[in-house]
Amino acid sequence: MIKIHILDCGSTFVDEALPLSNRSKNPLAFSGLGRKKNHQIEVPVTAYLIEHPQALILVDTGWDAAVRKDARRYEGFVNYHASPGVLPEGKAVTEHLARYGYRAADIDYCILTHMDIDHAGGIGMIKDAKCIMAGRAELEAAAKSNPRYLKRLWRGIDIKAFPDEEYDLLNDGSVKLIPLPGHSAGMTGVRAEGSGGFCVIAGDCGYARESYEKLVLPGIAWNRKQAEDSLRRLQAYSRDERCIAVLMTHDPEYKTGEIIL
Ligand SMILES: [Zn+2]
Repeated sequence: MIKIHILDCGSTFVDEALPLSNRSKNPLAFSGLGRKKNHQIEVPVTAYLIEHPQALILVDTGWDAAVRKDARRYEGFVNYHASPGVLPEGKAVTEHLARYGYRAADIDYCILTHMDIDHAGGIGMIKDAKCIMAGRAELEAAAKSNPRYLKRLWRGIDIKAFPDEEYDLLNDGSVKLIPLPGHSAGMTGVRAEGSGGFCVIAGDCGYARESYEKLVLPGIAWNRKQAEDSLRRLQAYSRDERCIAVLMTHDPEYKTGEIIL
């Protein structure tokens, strides 16, 4: 039996055009620059703990607890302006792990869907995990100069690269890392399958059901063509009769709960 815990790791405030680009005709609306507060919405930030008979897997980390003290300083101006982090007590990823009786060192694999701060920002708290991984293209993009990526957060932490193609994590077909590029250079999803069906954890490939049903791109797209292709892939998964859920980091429909596969 495979169990997926959806971890509620706080939230963030973003312009409504960041998750769903069709909410504004202004191509820079997602950044919040020059936009009124009434365009802001609060969206959840989630991470996922997969209890698998062969391995304990964490997908993404959510915010670091440092967000509670001074989010502006932790995120830097650009990131804070576009999406300030909110992390109530008890919602840091390590606090969730403790609730299930785990420490960071118990995690066999921490898979980072991509290196944006609301997904990889808590990496310092789980640096003792046995193996931390992200897509090769994502790590290459994150190593370049781009205010989106806060290299200081993972300095000195060994992040292994997995290839930018479908990757069978446990060599039994039950957990596959699937490339879903577009929102970022090497966005990766996780497809977990048990006897009851499968689930796809899709990071920021989309925001909500509308994203893949109507092919609405996110406001930030590294590559729009790839982003659309990845949404089509999600759409195909969602129409498979064995698909139990498509989970996206900021989807209000799945901000907490448990799925058994
Ligand atoms: Zn995100």
